[in-house]
Amino acid sequence: MKRIADYISYLRRHPKQANKWRLLIFIALEIAGVCMVVLDAELPGFIAMIAGLVIYTALTLALWRCPRCGSSLPWRDVFIEYCPHCGERLD
Ligand SMILES: [Zn+2]
Repeated sequence: MKRIADYISYLRRHPKQANKWRLLIFIALEIAGVCMVVLDAELPGFIAMIAGLVIYTALTLALWRCPRCGSSLPWRDVFIEYCPHCGERLD
């Protein structure tokens, strides 16, 4: 558990790494959900898609923040280089 906590604190300091994870998890769950629906497993498919949205939202709220000023970063700008609030370079 300590390693997970360490990794989360690392992600708080590196929002672009957190960004990679939230996109990866979101896309994986949406694709899995669509595949399940296509294969007639509608309920698990919808659950996977909703889980993808919920996890994406939770990760965005928790980790998509500037490590210097703490402002939340723009939701729609997925590939930003600098914090729009304080100009900190994100990595
Ligand atoms: Zn900032």
